[in-house]
Amino acid sequence: MGLSTACSICKTGDSKILLLDRHGIGNDYCSSNDVNRVFRYSYGNDEHYTGMAVESLKLWKNLEEESGQELLLPTGLLMLQGEDRDANGFNEASYRTLSRLKLGAEEEIEKRFPQFRAEKGFFDPHGGVLLASKALYALSSLIQKHGVTVRKGQAMKLVLGDQPSVETSAGEIVRFHKLVVTIGPWSNTLLSPRLTSMVSTRQQLVYFKPQNSLDLFRPRTCPVFFTDKHYGLPAAGIDGRASRPGEGEQIR
Ligand SMILES: Cc1cc2nc3c(=O)[nH]c(=O)nc-3n(C[C@H](O)[C@H](O)[C@H](O)COP(=O)(O)OP(=O)(O)OC[C@H]3O[C@@H](n4cnc5c(N)ncnc54)[C@H](O)[C@@H]3O)c2cc1C
Repeated sequence: MGLSTACSICKTGDSKILLLDRHGIGNDYCSSNDVNRVFRYSYGNDEHYTGMAVESLKLWKNLEEESGQELLLPTGLLMLQGEDRDANGFNEASYRTLSRLKLGAEEEIEKRFPQFRAEKGFFDPHGGVLLASKALYALSSLIQKHGVTVRKGQAMKLVLGDQPSVETSAGEIVRFHKLVVTIGPWSNTLLSPRLTSMVSTRQQLVYFKPQNSLDLFRPRTCPVFFTDKHYGLPAAGIDGRASRPGEGEQIR
């Protein structure tokens, strides 16, 4: 979010922008640094969120064009009805919302995706796989070309008042006119008690290496899929193994 925000702002004027990240861009602690992430229009009944996804697709396409890199692989999102009533309700609501907004939802899907077994499924044709880490570096390089300074540094304290500033762990005082804080699960440490506190939850990632042909699980044949409380991505940007030692487990 920090990189994307800097990218939007740096094109709108001649402001001097400094982007500080405690561990640097693409670090092992942040949520955004992973091989891939799901992109979708499907957010249940939530038309507002769906609308934001529609807008953000344009931004991803712009970024691809500006950086000359492929970042969003269009695979579609297959929502399979399973045993979990809440998840089934979410899938149905997403289908209804997409249909109402004329965003091309389909009911289906056995013929197109015979590798999945379910009594019923819905297809969001705008779903896809975002190559997340690649996007971080594309954004970082783009904003630096636009004059943004990107530095490793930890904001320790916010000083608000006539001359607002941030104190960093290196003892530096950075004065600012406008400040955007996008430090995710660490927000409480810097913002509390001024803003509502956040509760972070752990998301478990598991990488499977298919026993047979990996080609069946590549983006051109395999969509992103949701079922019950789980979701899965095709082998995009990765061949089914964790990308870095110690990250995730290889399960056969
Ligand atoms: C396992 C997992 C799977 C997910 N899957 C999906 C998905 O498929 N689709 C989807 O849309 N979303 C998904 N999400 C959510 C999505 O990844 C996050 O919402 C998004 O990456 C958050 O980005 P962010 O910039 O807010 O936070 P982060 O990427 O966590 O960045 C916060 C940054 O702040 C820095 N920082 C912290 N404290 C300070 C400080 N004091 N000073 C300076 N810098 C600081 C950190 O070093 C970090 O780099 C998933 C999340 C996880 C964890």
